Amino acid sequence: MRKYVIMGVQGSGKGTQSQLLAAELDLVHISVGDIFRWNVQNHTKIGALVRRTMAAGELVGDDLVESVVRERLTQHDWNFGFIIDGFPRNRPQAEFFLESYDIDGVIVLDLPDSEVRRRVLNRRVCPNCGINYNLIDSSPKVAGQCDSCGGELVTREDDTEEALAVRLRDYHEKTNPVIELFRRKEYVLMVDARPAPEAVQEQIRKSLSPPPFEPEKKESAGA
Ligand code: AMP
Repeated sequence: MRKYVIMGVQGSGKGTQSQLLAAELDLVHISVGDIFRWNVQNHTKIGALVRRTMAAGELVGDDLVESVVRERLTQHDWNFGFIIDGFPRNRPQAEFFLESYDIDGVIVLDLPDSEVRRRVLNRRVCPNCGINYNLIDSSPKVAGQCDSCGGELVTREDDTEEALAVRLRDYHEKTNPVIELFRRKEYVLMVDARPAPEAVQEQIRKSLSPPPFEPEKKESAGA
């Protein structure tokens, strides 16, 4: 059982790296942003609550985020563990998480702001299967179409200059201190997110092997 958190500024490749690692280690990939986007697309009550906040690039309130995370994790479909992406994003969320779950490692994808801007403003997403493309260095084979399912690619509503500025400010002000908190309590693995996705993944796997948790902890780890 392995429980990882993956953190990093917008566009650092959290989704891609989580999916690759989840496939390799049989983990469940939990993306809080994807859960919210699903709710917006499906016009649920939660979707109505978060739609505008998300489009503006602001953070959703802690109570709602924590209840979504709690609810998702109580499904217990993660027999071999999980990798959670996009959470925690501030100190209260981190404290809630540390009180409730044992974490085996925190992967931090490090990317300079200039590169974030280049990646995010050129990002396109498949709304059907969630695959991300970048029009500069990972464009789809057919323009505007998902290589995997043929879905029509869209730009995320929050991938604009304005929303990105808000997200970057929040990341530096609220999320960076969380990394410091984890650094004191947990295993933090800093990874340079600039290389190609496969190279970043290789770096993560190399650093996680042998696993950063002790066998005794593994035996007794609760939820
Ligand atoms: P992401 O896909 O991780 O960039 O998340 C997209 C949006 O969902 C964010 O800009 C927030 O509006 C919301 N969101 C996702 N995770 C969180 C979180 N942990 N705390 C607050 N808001 C969140």
